[in-house]
Amino acid sequence: MNYVIDFSEGSKEQADLLGGKGANLAEMTKLNLPVPTGFTITTQACLAYLEKKEQLSNKLEAQIKQHIQRMEERTKKTFGSAVNPLLVSVRSGSKFSMPGMMDTILNLGLNDETVLGLIEKTGDARFAYDCYRRLLQMFGDVVCGIDKNRFEEQLDFYKSKKNYRSDTDLMAEDWQALVSIYKDIFLEVTHHAFPQDPYEQLTLAVEAVFRSWNNRRAVTYRRLHDISDKLGTAVNIQEMVFGNFGSESGTGVAFTRNPATGEKGIFGEFLLNAQGEDVVAGIRTPQPISELENLMPEVYEKFLKLSGLLERHYKDMQDIEFTIENRQLYLLQTRNGKRTAKSAFKVCLQLVEEGIITKKEALQRINPTMITQLLHPVFEPEQLKQAEVFAKGLPASPGAANGKIYFTAEQAKKASEQGEKVILVRQETSPEDIEGMVVSEAIVTSRGGMTSHAAVVARGMGVCCVAGCEEIYVDEFLEQATVGDVTLRQGDTISVDGTTGTIYRGSIPYVQGDEWQLLETVTNWGKEMSRIDVKANAETPADIKMALKLGAQGIGLARTEHMFFGEQRIFEMRKMILAEDEPSLLAPLHKLKEFQKEDFRTMFELLKDKPCTIRLLDPPLHEFLPQTEEEIIHLANETERTVGQIKHRIAELHEQNPMLGHRGCRLAITTPQIYEMQAAAIIESAMAVSQEIGLTVVPEIMIPLIGSKEEMAWLRERLVQTVQQIFEEKQQIIPYKIGTMLEIPRACLTADEIAETADFFSFGTNDLTQLTYGFSRDDSVKFIGAYEERKLLKADPFQHIDEEGVGVLMKIAVEKIRKYDPKIKIGVCGEVGGDPQSIRFLQKIGVDYVSCSPYRIPAAILTIAQESA
Ligand code: ADP
Ligand code: MG
Ligand code: MG
Repeated sequence: MNYVIDFSEGSKEQADLLGGKGANLAEMTKLNLPVPTGFTITTQACLAYLEKKEQLSNKLEAQIKQHIQRMEERTKKTFGSAVNPLLVSVRSGSKFSMPGMMDTILNLGLNDETVLGLIEKTGDARFAYDCYRRLLQMFGDVVCGIDKNRFEEQLDFYKSKKNYRSDTDLMAEDWQALVSIYKDIFLEVTHHAFPQDPYEQLTLAVEAVFRSWNNRRAVTYRRLHDISDKLGTAVNIQEMVFGNFGSESGTGVAFTRNPATGEKGIFGEFLLNAQGEDVVAGIRTPQPISELENLMPEVYEKFLKLSGLLERHYKDMQDIEFTIENRQLYLLQTRNGKRTAKSAFKVCLQLVEEGIITKKEALQRINPTMITQLLHPVFEPEQLKQAEVFAKGLPASPGAANGKIYFTAEQAKKASEQGEKVILVRQETSPEDIEGMVVSEAIVTSRGGMTSHAAVVARGMGVCCVAGCEEIYVDEFLEQATVGDVTLRQGDTISVDGTTGTIYRGSIPYVQGDEWQLLETVTNWGKEMSRIDVKANAETPADIKMALKLGAQGIGLARTEHMFFGEQRIFEMRKMILAEDEPSLLAPLHKLKEFQKEDFRTMFELLKDKPCTIRLLDPPLHEFLPQTEEEIIHLANETERTVGQIKHRIAELHEQNPMLGHRGCRLAITTPQIYEMQAAAIIESAMAVSQEIGLTVVPEIMIPLIGSKEEMAWLRERLVQTVQQIFEEKQQIIPYKIGTMLEIPRACLTADEIAETADFFSFGTNDLTQLTYGFSRDDSVKFIGAYEERKLLKADPFQHIDEEGVGVLMKIAVEKIRKYDPKIKIGVCGEVGGDPQSIRFLQKIGVDYVSCSPYRIPAAILTIAQESA
């Protein structure tokens, strides 16, 4: 088994075996770039070492020796020589860059004799002893676990004794004195002298790197970032070049573009007469890379040339470490640079413009998290680290916000009118809270899941929301929120992270994400490449405008019930619900129709000729009934009834299980006039806009909660009659469609029969999941956490589609419908329609489009484009 691979033998594709650093050192060597010579001990060697109870095999030791000898031939230096010593760095590097593992050791191979050789060769004793003391410190720290501060303390003490201010004041004999002080520390702590044999130094260092794979910090990091424990780390052994060899030497790091803003041009810093991590250690202030142009123009030119070459070769922004020894430039590391979301987008666009990558490649590099960061605010990372967590809940709607807490919509509204930034905290929200929700920076609820009212509405508005925070006891009456022994009261400040579901005490500053332009270009590319469309769940003008701006290709779900909550509308709605005979039903219905017509007209106008699916009334009627005594009295007065009569009617409408009760199409089976009115409003406004503005609107009327072909046929017949009547009256005909939701398991199983009278279908995955699993959408938050903890559920099925259960039902439905008529359009309008992981599945089963809340559209487009490409 070959455990050691020379830099000249590897390539960038071998990160598994050589680690990221090693693979890139090999690649740069292959490109003939100025990389100090060396070799990589593979991750396989590390795994073998850890397996064999931490014993370096003789074979590995022999291979290392062999490769050192090859380095000696190439460099004409000798490891351990007292005349012309070869010194090396020992650098860890696994497949993924991973803080927590062993750091780098520089100048390995120095000892009491070779240091004399180095002086002999360079004529610079100050430099040689500086290298030696660095080795003692690094080796002591990373191989033997001697606290760095032990060395630093002695250095400081020495400097103050001699009245030196900076490290550059120390002369050769000072560093020499410190070398012996450091050796004493070594002996005192480890009870061994610093190993003088270079091969022993090397073996100990390699073993320390291997073992650091399993140190606690590294293990924790891997767990947090889902990195496998079975990868192991590689070790790179590389000839030293010296940035600390006087004022014509130095070391630095640079990005080929700005990692924060994405701006073009080299971005970085360097330090003259310095080694290794001096640049980042903050001992001296580094200079911006542009200064190098004045100091050593030819080195600067060369660096520009090589970094450009690397960028084109890797087809991505590079993060490069370099060292200059006597005006000679060396490259010590390159990797794809970490960057902010904004920078990532900018760089992608630039690389496409420059012809370095294709649009398709650019799309593959963007992920949904980056889009979230671009659209929504994020907390300042440094401030976040110090923040105190108050509670955790579900990440219901992404973003970051801070503000004062209020416990009722009314109080929130009042405070906001006085110019305060408010956060609405409630047990759960209902449509009546909408005015308070609109003015809030964030919404927090202690109950309800990812598809609860608060979550759905917040996502729709693009407002940050944490839902189902069960650990908070929200007392809306006393206006306080308690977790353990911490109680927050009205007006206290919190910060809410809707992306992670975390709530913090106090106010954490955030940065706004509003890079529309960048996003637009990318979503347009995505749409060019996608096989299926992305539509929006939206009905208010503001939401529709936002959806279009974010790339929606139509409205896949306009929920008409959201249109019945304005003050006057709810009143008419209530009158309608209370009606006991035809005339008292028709009067409020007529009023509601006028409201709806206005709404639909605005929608069609905004959408131009993009498709629009409108769902007829869905929720149980009791949701619209008055709740408070005050509202009941008001309603009684206005409708000339007694309070008793109203209460009696409310009691009549009460259901044990409203979600399975009198809702959706069932309302229209008992009272068809409601859907007839809605269908008429849709058709009449579509006619109006097509006549007046010349738009071709093909409205899609969607009936919710269909479970059988009988229901569908009966309701369709009614609606068709209504529409025909309008056509006759107006002497005009327009195209339209009548379709249904697939949200009841029975509908999925009989979808081919329903298809006989349905022009299109749309999966309502929220209800479908609820009914398939038997998990209540509103209450499952109480136990789903326990399921996940005990690994009884892979994920919350309301967040990510349950492929094995709900998914199979969907597959059956799609197959049956396609068999009946392959041209029928099938969409998805539940929450999972906006979830990238679910979208991948939905695309596979062959739906024609997904529909989701406006702010999830860009990520959905991106996911589909990536899968289509
Ligand atoms: P990290 O993974 O922490 O960046 P590196 O292995 O890249 O660790 O080493 C840190 C620094 O040490 C490098 O940026 C470089 O300045 C210095 N270094 C490493 N190897 C050598 C070498 N052969 N010659 C000179 N400097 C080196
Ligand atoms: Mg480091
Ligand atoms: Mg590095």
